[in-house]
Amino acid sequence: MTGNKSFKNPCDVAVIGGGPVGSQTAYKLSQMGYRVLVFEKRPAFPAHICCTGIVSRECVETYEIPTSVIYRQANGATLITPTGRAVPVERDTPQAAILDRSAFNQLWAQRAVSAGAEYCYGAEVKNLKHGKNGITLEVSQQGNPASIQAKTVVVSTGFGARLMDGLGLGAAGDFVMGAQAEVETKNVDDVEVYFGSKVAPGFFGWLTPTGENKALVGVLSRRHPPAYLRSLLGRLVDEGKIVSAKAPFTYGGVPLRPLHRTYGDRLLVVGTAAGQVKPLTGGGIYYGLLCADMAANTLNRAFNSGDFSPAHLAGYERAWKRKLGSELRNGYFARRMYELLSDSQIDSVFKLMKTSGLIEEMEKSDDLSFDWHGAVVNRIFNHRLIIRVLKSLYVGQKGKKAV
Ligand SMILES: Cc1cc2nc3c(=O)[nH]c(=O)nc-3n(C[C@H](O)[C@H](O)[C@H](O)COP(=O)(O)OP(=O)(O)OC[C@H]3O[C@@H](n4cnc5c(N)ncnc54)[C@H](O)[C@@H]3O)c2cc1C
Repeated sequence: MTGNKSFKNPCDVAVIGGGPVGSQTAYKLSQMGYRVLVFEKRPAFPAHICCTGIVSRECVETYEIPTSVIYRQANGATLITPTGRAVPVERDTPQAAILDRSAFNQLWAQRAVSAGAEYCYGAEVKNLKHGKNGITLEVSQQGNPASIQAKTVVVSTGFGARLMDGLGLGAAGDFVMGAQAEVETKNVDDVEVYFGSKVAPGFFGWLTPTGENKALVGVLSRRHPPAYLRSLLGRLVDEGKIVSAKAPFTYGGVPLRPLHRTYGDRLLVVGTAAGQVKPLTGGGIYYGLLCADMAANTLNRAFNSGDFSPAHLAGYERAWKRKLGSELRNGYFARRMYELLSDSQIDSVFKLMKTSGLIEEMEKSDDLSFDWHGAVVNRIFNHRLIIRVLKSLYVGQKGKKAV
């Protein structure tokens, strides 16, 4: 890593946020020959990031993620229903990789630096001011104010950044909060996903082994993630899966719907900041990287034509919506349906999926994709027995409203 450099004005592209998506954008644009500055408000790479780092094999292959930043691979997961029934879903070959998120962030930044990008750490972008020929970034670097000129800006600030408020692009329509802890395990081999209102209302909790006797335990929940995480840790101690419930927590948020608009005058928003996240699982790394590539291609076209207007940059939003739009819509619909289910209905749906052969069918079919949930969602919602459970749920909801 080259460390902080003095700012030379103006740069072609200022990338705000040095997470994986910002670094991917910086890498692509630097490779294309543009002068790219990346502003990252953190002073250096944190050792613990609130992310489990699970990505698909497709993501690993597409982005050639090296084994040096992969803790381990997983062929599937065991789903634990609200009543504690274990439903394993597994294939013969690895379906996912669990990344060391800190090492991955560092590697992705190093790659961008090798391609020519410059990183400014401890530099928080506070405000953006549009001018005739570019954007002025008001930056606070270790408390000292600085002004930087950029021809274009890519915002990749992750979840909940204050900077987004003043951009006039709207906010993520819905979101969920998460908490996670690193723990010591006893004989745990598989990824386990826990469902039910006592674990994580509306969402799920997880136990993800990362290495020898180490795992990440976390929850995404509509309400009080730390309280639910404490409870899940206690349960895992009682079940003899982890050594202690005492561990520091990290916190983060996940948008469940995209931003109203992801482009503006000389500006694009990418990754979690744009809401490019799978609404069913909260996974945002792969979709964010894909959108980073599309953002870089759009800016390249804008530089070639000299047209940085919103009308021209709207092509970026059209491109990513073509690729991900229906996945995000279907995933969000399925998520909302799931959130209506009571614990006993969740149990019934899992039981039906098992006994009707749906899980076995999906394990064998190419539809079971870690990243593309549309086909799986269709399969589940078109299954006649599941339709029957959902119909009874609908009637139940109507009855409740009538009371
Ligand atoms: C509990 C939890 C578990 C998750 N598990 C997974 C998982 O298993 N798989 C998966 O794919 N995804 C997962 N995610 C989502 C994943 O973490 C994000 O989608 C991913 O990190 C998005 O990358 P990004 O680069 O867009 O944003 P980030 O990684 O959040 O990076 C944004 C960066 O911008 C910086 N920044 C913010 N504001 C400013 C500013 N004004 N100036 C300068 N810098 C700024 C921040 O410091 C940060 O480093 C999880 C999320 C949570 C909360």
